[in-house]
Amino acid sequence: MERMAVLDTIQKLEILADAAKYDASCASSGTAKRNSAGGKGIGSTEGMGICHAYAPDGRCISLLKILLTNHCIFDCHYCINRKSSNVRRAKFTPREVADLTLTFYRRNYIEGLFLSSGIIKSSNHTMELLVETARILREEHDFRGYIHLKTIPEADGELAHQAGLYADRVSINVELPTDTGLTRLAPDKDSRQIEGAMGGMKMAIRQSKDERKRFKHAPRFAPGGQSTQMIVGADAATDADIVGKASRLYDNFRLRRVYYSAFSPIPDASAVLPLKRPPLMREHRLYQSDWLMRFYGFAPREVMQATEADGNLPLDIDPKLAWALKFRERFPVDVNRSSREDLLRVPGLGTRAVGQILASRRHRTLRLDDVAKLTVSITRVRPFICTADWRPTLLTDRADLRGILAPKQEQLELFAA
Ligand code: SF4
Repeated sequence: MERMAVLDTIQKLEILADAAKYDASCASSGTAKRNSAGGKGIGSTEGMGICHAYAPDGRCISLLKILLTNHCIFDCHYCINRKSSNVRRAKFTPREVADLTLTFYRRNYIEGLFLSSGIIKSSNHTMELLVETARILREEHDFRGYIHLKTIPEADGELAHQAGLYADRVSINVELPTDTGLTRLAPDKDSRQIEGAMGGMKMAIRQSKDERKRFKHAPRFAPGGQSTQMIVGADAATDADIVGKASRLYDNFRLRRVYYSAFSPIPDASAVLPLKRPPLMREHRLYQSDWLMRFYGFAPREVMQATEADGNLPLDIDPKLAWALKFRERFPVDVNRSSREDLLRVPGLGTRAVGQILASRRHRTLRLDDVAKLTVSITRVRPFICTADWRPTLLTDRADLRGILAPKQEQLELFAA
């Protein structure tokens, strides 16, 4: 009898961990590939929902990443759990998820929980179950591990508020970059409702921060902030559309992260979906553009300037190099004199290298060899900088510079593999 119950839990875990792998909004880098069947057994970290994510303090942590249920009353075309999909269904109770989390936690398999869910009965009912899971963990077991809760935008604001009181981070998926795409592919969802819920979260997070400045024991509210996910390649939205949407979300809702998830073809897919997934490199280029906006001082407009005629970022070169090649008059940048902002524009120079350049040049004049020690490839950097002993002469004339600096085809294929 006991064995049967354990097997049931494992079977449910297999189904609900597998169903959760399509959600990228906890910054997971799952140990199993998206379309792999994964491993078996409680101790296995493959296929049983254990993924890695970055905590708000930057630590890499392992999380149990599962859905409460993959039953759903909604019918989002791109989702394997949609109402009309022919998948095996399963459902955990809040107490079962709490018990699993505690068991994995005590065995040191995980440091926290990422919990999402399909929508059963109603958005409010589902949100109540998600909140109840977190409540059991926090209040009944004094669980101090990390909790990331997916919040359902159609649910009452009060339930979302309770989620924020228990969770370290909350996320509300914007799903698609354009309203047209959302209406077409997720007919039960409404962008105004999604953004309204994000706005409510932003206010509650800010209010909690203010209160904690004044009262030391004021309750914490989603101290890790909120994040969202956008699906790439399921509709006709270009990278310029996606960059524009991401930047508005960052500005309007103070999001910690926007995650980009390349659309993954699903079994029994709806006819309105593309047959093929977009190249994984597209997702990677969007993450690079996101970093340019968050850490390199690029305005969204400037990232969009790096796109090609079709509105998409080039796949063969990164967006920073694409921008530099379009605006060659901004180079070379003098490593010994230029501002931090200008140095951050140099392809091949990361934020750490720029920091080291600024620190070193206080004491001495930098030569090309000094910069080479700070970069992975001085060949990439050299055309865009000048140093005490180096000045590029042919940069603006060379039409073939892109071909010279682009990674070799084999490297790109290696990435795709
Ligand atoms: S609401 Fe849409 S995206 Fe979420 S589980 Fe249901 S069908 Fe999938």
